Amino acid sequence: MPESPRGPVPPEQIARIFQRIDALRDDLVALTQRLIRFPTINPPGDAYEACARDIGAWLSARGAAVSYLRGEGEPDDTDLHPRINVIGRLEATEPGPCIHFNGHIDVVEPGLGWTVPPFEGLVRDGRVYGRGACDMKGGIAAAMIAIEAILAEGALTCGAIEFSGTVDEESGGFGGVGILARRGLFDRSRVDHVIIPEPLNPDRVCLGHRGVWWAEIEMRGQIGHGAMPFLGVSAIRGMGHFLRLLEEELLPALGTRVTRMPCVPKGARQATLNLNSIHGGQPEPFHGLPAPVVADRCRLVIDRRYLIEEDLDQVRAEIVGLLDRARAREAGLDYSIREIMTFAPTMTEPDAPLVRELDHWIEVLFGRPAEHVASPGTYDQKHITRFGSVRDCVAYGPGILDLAHQPDEWVGIDDMVISAKVMAATTLCLLHNRGNPA
Ligand SMILES: [Zn+2]
Repeated sequence: MPESPRGPVPPEQIARIFQRIDALRDDLVALTQRLIRFPTINPPGDAYEACARDIGAWLSARGAAVSYLRGEGEPDDTDLHPRINVIGRLEATEPGPCIHFNGHIDVVEPGLGWTVPPFEGLVRDGRVYGRGACDMKGGIAAAMIAIEAILAEGALTCGAIEFSGTVDEESGGFGGVGILARRGLFDRSRVDHVIIPEPLNPDRVCLGHRGVWWAEIEMRGQIGHGAMPFLGVSAIRGMGHFLRLLEEELLPALGTRVTRMPCVPKGARQATLNLNSIHGGQPEPFHGLPAPVVADRCRLVIDRRYLIEEDLDQVRAEIVGLLDRARAREAGLDYSIREIMTFAPTMTEPDAPLVRELDHWIEVLFGRPAEHVASPGTYDQKHITRFGSVRDCVAYGPGILDLAHQPDEWVGIDDMVISAKVMAATTLCLLHNRGNPA
C-alpha cells in the first residue's frame, strides 16, 4: 500500500460530512427514483446501458475518470441486451488506499402482486417504492451520496474512491463483477477495500457467504421390457439407492456441521443439500400412454451449500462415495457427475480494517453494536475474492433484506441517509488508514 500523509480525521470534519448528507436527503431520494426508473430487468438485461451511462455521467460530473466495460463473450451478452458495466475512479493528488463501492444495477422481474407502479419510484411515508428500491438501487444511491458529501467537503485528499455499477448479479454476475475481476479491477495493487451496498439492514455487516457446488448426477442402467423388469437394470431404482444413502447418512451428517460463519437465518449455519430436480425414464412431457420400458437413465441435480470449514474435494468425495455404494448394489448400474457451478465460500475476518471501521460508525450512529451476518447464498463477493485478490470486502447497505424480490419493494429514506453516513465516515477513516476519531 502506498504511503500517504496520515493524520487523524478531525471529528468536526466527520460532523460536517454528516450535515452535508442530511442536506442531500432530497438529492438522495431523487437519485434513487431516477435509478428505479431504468427498468433494468434481468433476464433479459433491459436498459443496462442507459442506466450505466446515467451513473457514468453522474460520476464524470464529479470529476471521476469513467470507463465502460462490456461483458463480452458472456452467454447473455447480445447487441440487443449488451452487458454494460460502468466504473468511475476519483483520485486524490496524494497517494493512499483505494476504497471501491460496487453495486449491481440489475433487478429481478416485478412479478405479480404490486399495488404501486414498479418503475416510477413512488415516495410515500418516508419510503421509496419500486423494483430494485431495496435490492439495490437505494444502496447504490446511498453510496453515491456518501461520495458526493466527501467531495463537497474537499475531504478526498489522499488515496482514491471508486464506484462501479455492474450487471447480472441476479444471474451469477459473470458479465458484471466477474468480468471486472477477471480484468484485474479488483487486484490488491489498485483496490484495498470493497463495500457492496446490498440490502442487509443498515446496522449489519455481511462478512461473506457459503460456498456452492451444483452438480448433475446421471445414473445409468439397462433398458428392458416393463413387463420383465428383471431383464433390465432400472436407473431410477439405482438413483433410489443413492437417495436412501443421502437420507440415512449424508443429510444427518451435514446437519451436525456448524460453521463459525454468522449466517442468517441460523439454519444456514449448517451445511445443506437441496435436491434441485430429478427425472428418470421417458422424457417429459409425453402424451398418450407411456412406453413399457425399464428406465435406463435417471438424472438428479443437487445444490450443495458448503461451509468455510469444509473442503470442496471432501464435498465431492462424499457424494462420489455414496454413488459408488449405490452402484455396487446391482450389476449393470453406472453413473457420471457433471459439475454445473462451483463457488468457494468466502468470509472477511471480523477484525479486518473495513469491518472494524463499519462496526465503529454503526455503533456511533445507531447507539448499539453492529451485528455481523453471512449470507446463505452467494453474491458478487465471490468474484472479487475468487478472480480478484482483494480480501477486505463486505456487503453493507440500506434496505431490509426480506423485502428483496418482493412485490411493493421499498427502501426507507432514513435508512439510506444513515447508511450513507456510515459509508462516508468509514471511507474517510480508511483513506487516512487510521482508527476513527471518536
Ligand atoms: Zn442484490
